[in-house]
Amino acid sequence: MVVFAAGTKDLTISEVRLTPVLIADPPLLNTQGVHQPYTPRLIIEVVTSGGVVGLGETYGDTKYLEVARPLAEALPGTSVAASNRLPALAASACGAPGEPADGRAAVDVGGLRGVQTADKLRLSVVSGFEVALLDALGRTLGLPVHALLGGKVRDRVEYSAYLFYRWAEHPHGQGEGDDWGAALDPAGIVAQARRFARDYGFGSFKLKGGVFEPDAEMAAVRAVAEAFPGHPLRLDPNGAWSVGTSLRVAEELKDVLEYLEDPAGGTPAMAEVAAGTPVPLATNMCVTTFEEIPEAFTTGAVQVVLSDHHYWGGLHNTRELAALCRTFGVGLSMHSNTHLGISLAAMTQVAAAVPNLDYACDSHYPWQSEDVITRRFTFHGGGLEVSDRPGLGVELDRDRLAALHRRWVEDDGTLRDRDDAAAMREADPGWTAPTVPRW
Ligand SMILES: [Mg+2]
Repeated sequence: MVVFAAGTKDLTISEVRLTPVLIADPPLLNTQGVHQPYTPRLIIEVVTSGGVVGLGETYGDTKYLEVARPLAEALPGTSVAASNRLPALAASACGAPGEPADGRAAVDVGGLRGVQTADKLRLSVVSGFEVALLDALGRTLGLPVHALLGGKVRDRVEYSAYLFYRWAEHPHGQGEGDDWGAALDPAGIVAQARRFARDYGFGSFKLKGGVFEPDAEMAAVRAVAEAFPGHPLRLDPNGAWSVGTSLRVAEELKDVLEYLEDPAGGTPAMAEVAAGTPVPLATNMCVTTFEEIPEAFTTGAVQVVLSDHHYWGGLHNTRELAALCRTFGVGLSMHSNTHLGISLAAMTQVAAAVPNLDYACDSHYPWQSEDVITRRFTFHGGGLEVSDRPGLGVELDRDRLAALHRRWVEDDGTLRDRDDAAAMREADPGWTAPTVPRW
C-alpha cells in the first residue's frame, strides 16, 4: 500500500520497477491466427523520492522489454514532470542509431500492427513510461491525469463492443477458459453482441474480420444490424482484402457501417478504396506514427484514425494527433489490443481530454478475466465514468501482480512473445499466417 504524505512535492524518480506478466486471453480469431492462451504485458512502476508510485502498462514481448530495461535504468534522478524527455532518453538509453533512416527500418514484432520499425517499438515503450510518470505526477499533486492534459471535456467515455469470431476454448485445454462458447457464424456473433449489450450496455459494435470469406463476414454484420437496427457497426479485416473486395463489401454494407477499418493493406490501397466508396475508412495499421500522416491525409486514404496511446507514444502525443486530425477534417476513434485496467484507465483519461474523439472507443477489456488493479472496471451504459481521483485513479493489487508475474517466470518462453500464427498451429499444424490480400 502506498502512503501519500500531504505536501510531498518531491518529483524526483528514485526507482523504476518493471514486471512482465502473462494474462489470460480467450481464443479470439483474426486473419493472422488466434490469440495465445496467455498474452505478455509489462507493468511499469515509477517511484518518486516522495514515496509516490506511478503505474504504467504496455506490451510485454521480449523486444519491448529489451527497450524498457535500459530506459528504466536511465530514469532515476530525472523528474516525473519531464515526460517530454522520454523519447530522447529512450533513444540514447537503447543505443538507437543516430540516423533516422535506421530507426525507420522495418523490424518484425509480429501481429497486426502494419509495418513495424524500431521507432514504433520505442514509442510503445515510451507510452507506458509516460503514463506512469503522469500517474505519479497526478498523485503527487492531487490531480487526475486528465487535469495534466488540460482537463476533461466530458464526464463519460463511450466504448464499443468488440465482437470476435472465437472458439469455445483453446486447443488441448490450455488457458483459463470462460463461458462465452464458440462464435463462428452470424448466430454466434449476434449472441455475443446481445450479451455485450445486456451486460455492459454497449450500443456500437465492431467485428474483427479477416477470418472467414468476406461473404460470411458480411452476413454476420448484416445479422447484427438486424438485431440492433440503427446502431453503429464496424468491420475490421486487418488489411486482408484486395481493393476490389474492399469496394464490394463497402457497397453491400454501406447502409449499416459507420466505418470500415483497414479493409486493404497500405496507404495506396486504402486511398484507392476510399476514392470508390462513401463509407469512411478507418485505420490503426497504415497510420500509426506522425510520419505516416502526410501521405494518408493528402491522398484521402483514411477518414478516421484509431488513436492508441500505446502506438503513438503516450497521452500527450494522442492529443497532438487529435489536433492534426481536427486540422485535416479526419475523424478520431480509439484502437485497443489485449490490455489490463491500468491501460484502460489511461485510455479513458486521454479520451476524456480530447474534444474531437468522435466515436466510441474500442476496448478488449471485457475479454480479460484477470487484472493487476484492486477494483476492475465495469462498463455501464456502454461507457465508463471519468475518474477525478489523483493520477489514473487505480491501485495496484500486488498479490495479483505477483501471481501473473510468476506465470511469466514459469513459462518456458513459448508465450512470452505473442504469436497468433504459432497459437493457430496448436490446432492446425500446417497453418502459416496468410499473405495479404487474402481475399
Ligand atoms: Mg484494427
